[in-house]
Amino acid sequence: MSDILANLQAVRARIAAAQQTCGRTSESVSLVAVSKTFDATAVREAVAAGQRSFGENYVQEGIGKIEALADLRSQIEWHFIGPMQSNKTRQIAEHFDWVHSIDRLKIAQRLSEQRPPALRPLQVCLQVNISGEASKSGVAPGDTLELARAVHALPHLQLRGLMAVPAPSDNAIEQRGAFAALRTLNDSLRENGLPVDTLSMGMSSDLESAIAEGATIVRIGTAVFGTRPRAAH
Ligand SMILES: *Cc1c(COP(=O)(O)O)cnc(C)c1O
Repeated sequence: MSDILANLQAVRARIAAAQQTCGRTSESVSLVAVSKTFDATAVREAVAAGQRSFGENYVQEGIGKIEALADLRSQIEWHFIGPMQSNKTRQIAEHFDWVHSIDRLKIAQRLSEQRPPALRPLQVCLQVNISGEASKSGVAPGDTLELARAVHALPHLQLRGLMAVPAPSDNAIEQRGAFAALRTLNDSLRENGLPVDTLSMGMSSDLESAIAEGATIVRIGTAVFGTRPRAAH
């Protein structure tokens, strides 16, 4: 059995166990396999093992894989999860299905303008700087509602919810605190009438904590594809 198939089975088992522990149904969490730094062959292998959603952080690298896997395009959902510069929004709008990392209105407006009208609206999450780290991208929690309202009004985007990459911690209580804060913020968007249904949170080392706090998408790289070269985070 290939590593990727075995790894995917192990990750699916972790997700199922976490769902069971907190009484969530088996369809309530979806897995985005983060393929950054791994090549199209690895993604093809994961598709053969039944994986459908993939996350990419770098525009050029992601589009290279999308093009190399054009024969599988209808089977794959491509998620952009990395930081965005304005000069790259057109390529993202034209090639990806989801964007998790919207942190300012200007980027959202460009993505909406540049989304080809023949495609389904781009499915988007706002990235929130939930741990308040100066170095981290993401909208401040206190500015999230205003940005969410503005993004919800854009015609070619569909606002789905929130995403965060909390400060790394080995401590499950700390992990859960950050994820709970994101969930509370998403709940407050809903209470303000925004139809959000997605919490994108949880990575290889903390997916159990994220699922316990309501994650609907976990973004898993290392546990599916293996350790990345050190230069890439
Ligand atoms: C790399 C990355 C992941 C996956 O991280 P792992 O720890 O390898 O599972 C998830 N989300 C984002 C935004 C990333 O950049």
